[in-house]
Amino acid sequence: MYKTRAYSAASAASPLARTSIPRRDPTERDVQIEILNCGICHSDLHYKRDEWHDVMPAVYPCVPGHEIVGRVTKVGSGVTKYKPGDLVGVGCLVDSDRTCRECREGLEQFCPNMVLTYGSPDRHGTAPVTYGGYSDSIVVDERFVLRIPNNLNLAAAAPLLCAGITTYSPMRHWGVSEGKKVGVVGLGGLGHMGVKFAHAFGAHTVVFTTSPNKREDALRLGADEVVVSKDANEMKKHAGSFDFILDCVAAPHDVNAFINLLGRDGNLTMVGAPDKPLPVAVFGLIFGRKSFSGSPIGGLPETQEMLDFCGTNNITADVEVIPIQKINEAYERMLKSDVKYRFSIDMASLKSE
Ligand code: NAP
Ligand code: ZN
Repeated sequence: MYKTRAYSAASAASPLARTSIPRRDPTERDVQIEILNCGICHSDLHYKRDEWHDVMPAVYPCVPGHEIVGRVTKVGSGVTKYKPGDLVGVGCLVDSDRTCRECREGLEQFCPNMVLTYGSPDRHGTAPVTYGGYSDSIVVDERFVLRIPNNLNLAAAAPLLCAGITTYSPMRHWGVSEGKKVGVVGLGGLGHMGVKFAHAFGAHTVVFTTSPNKREDALRLGADEVVVSKDANEMKKHAGSFDFILDCVAAPHDVNAFINLLGRDGNLTMVGAPDKPLPVAVFGLIFGRKSFSGSPIGGLPETQEMLDFCGTNNITADVEVIPIQKINEAYERMLKSDVKYRFSIDMASLKSE
């Protein structure tokens, strides 16, 4: 066991602050990673503030962060995929049971025994729960380590590990492709990646935003059209016309307004995870045989596929790089939708403290 620097919160109400946490020494199949950048996901904020208490109660102290990129510093004797110096990433998962049907199919995100990067019981007993990427080092089994294409900017690649795969996976599942009309609701960290992927897959892409000042950005990111969702007239023009809508909104909002925009057999998938239930008007689904569903992150093989796709097509997140000392301010700004479009922590700032 060794100690490493980190930022943790002692309770839902306390700010994130400098601390030191234990990490295990790499075992046979482990990869030790020096963390260079970590993205800030809205899930980090929901968790740190214990907003998902009913589903996933937070355990304190908590160290969030699941958009991790860094360089391999050490590998166990049985590691075959990575060597010191490699650029790698870690997303929301660090382990699973590896034997269930989901794991055998590479769909570890559905494993009933998955271990999340932070807040899950630590099977190695290093700490009560796993600690995430707001830290300068992490040790992860090689099966849960991803390869980062060398041509991508690292700070901008970090958000691919959660925002990237969470939007890529449902779009692949629901067949987003040329000739399809696709909506993305909420232009934040997830939403802006959703726009980039829908555009790259050749779909006619429409952004729904509550922030009129994001219109130009949405077009630049790849949207064909932008709709300010508070404008009922603008919304009406698109009634019954969408094949697929990805809802990336972090707060309670009216999903029925978007279900009404789906065409026959259209699907609306929630990736946004508001803390309160959302009322659904079922007649909106019945007429048109529409479906309303959800989707969590993605499995390891698909996450690697997404990273390789991003390498080939030069896709990364639009990031504002910040020192870790600005993390509490960054959380406040994220709540005000004031980030273009993902914060990425430069972990060198932690080392210099
Ligand atoms: P984010 O960067 O804060 O973006 C959320 C966006 O939602 C905002 O930029 C804003 O876009 C819109 N929005 C915010 N409040 C709203 C409101 N009251 N009404 C309507 N729109 C509102 O957050 P994120 O990191 O992308 O995460 C989004 C959600 O996805 C969070 O709930 C997060 O926990 C969840 N998530 C889920 C998964 C999964 O596996 N399913 C993975 C990661 C994250 P506009 O300004 O354009 O309106
Ligand atoms: Zn996330």
